[in-house]
Amino acid sequence: MDYPNLKDLKRENNNYINLNPLQTAGKLTEPAKKALIEFGDGYSICDFCNGVLDEIEKPPIKTFTKDILPKFLGCDTVRITNGAREGMFLIMHALTNPKDTILIDDNAHYSCILAAERCKLNIIKVPNSKCPIDAIDVTQYEPYIKKHKPKLIFLTYPEGNYGNLPDAKKLGTIAKKHNIPYAINCAYSIGRMPVNMKELGADFVVASGHKSMSASGPIGLIGINKKYEEKVLERSKDYPNKVIECLGCTSRGATIATLMASFPEVEQRVKNWDNELKKAQWFAHELEKLNFILIGQNPHRHDLMYFKTDILYEISKKHKRKGYFLYRELKKRGIIGIKPGHTKSFKLSTYSIPKEDLKKVISAFKEIIDDNKKLL
Ligand SMILES: *Cc1c(COP(=O)(O)O)cnc(C)c1O
Repeated sequence: MDYPNLKDLKRENNNYINLNPLQTAGKLTEPAKKALIEFGDGYSICDFCNGVLDEIEKPPIKTFTKDILPKFLGCDTVRITNGAREGMFLIMHALTNPKDTILIDDNAHYSCILAAERCKLNIIKVPNSKCPIDAIDVTQYEPYIKKHKPKLIFLTYPEGNYGNLPDAKKLGTIAKKHNIPYAINCAYSIGRMPVNMKELGADFVVASGHKSMSASGPIGLIGINKKYEEKVLERSKDYPNKVIECLGCTSRGATIATLMASFPEVEQRVKNWDNELKKAQWFAHELEKLNFILIGQNPHRHDLMYFKTDILYEISKKHKRKGYFLYRELKKRGIIGIKPGHTKSFKLSTYSIPKEDLKKVISAFKEIIDDNKKLL
């Protein structure tokens, strides 16, 4: 048996332009890399803990979770989780009983569905009626609310396949009217673009640190409206300072240290969202010139984009490397992040990739098509 050694644990992605949507906003900042080493030991943040994660003052988790993050998210209370899925599970588990009904948009991430299954809930999906695939029309929730009387409603903002951004604020008004707790899954938005829970009229927001906040995961957080705070953050009878749904403490080391270390840069980049979005729209427009088809909202409102690329698929049918030609050709040009074997369609993200690098990506696609013209 070969034991893994350091040689096997190398990543060869350095110096590549990485378009993988999972990676673009999760890359560590320089301060976070230092924090990762500093806090790499197991329970590294627990040296000065009196029993509650959010009360630790050294490192300054207390101000981070009690002052800085609630202000950043426009919510009353924040709790650290081990990821977005854990946050969704926590909310569902605290607010429902088995067999209760909840509404989830049809574009939801699989982990949202699994969280509901783990809670043994009756899941009703609010359909996506538009064709081609577009953002959920949130007014569709209302008839479902009337019919099913759900205990909780979830919206994915944006969803992780096409990057469609639904009208979360409008759903906030609908949720308020029917007095139903409303949670928004912001795994792909918090840390990339401005999200304000109160402005959206939500009761919960869920974030993913490793996806969108330049943290070494797994880590996430939830923002909570005080109306639900007591119920969601119920304390143990035996251990009165421990929150049951968090199993006492969630992050216990390097993950929260990296989240905190990256936060100043994350806060700044969120302010730059308009430019980030303009860059994404420009990029999509350039790819449309190559006859790639942008699926979903157009003009797009997020850096995560899904393209249908028939021309590359046609090439792949005749190319000696079949569907793998694209991955190989891109990699030769210093570009990764589109899944090996995909040519018919793929998703990518432009987040925090400099325009100069995106120009290289556009040229690479052009060249790859030109070089293979004879196969068409
Ligand atoms: C990635 C993703 C998740 C899962 O995030 P974790 O923090 O890894 O649990 C959930 N929802 C959406 C929409 C995602 O894109």
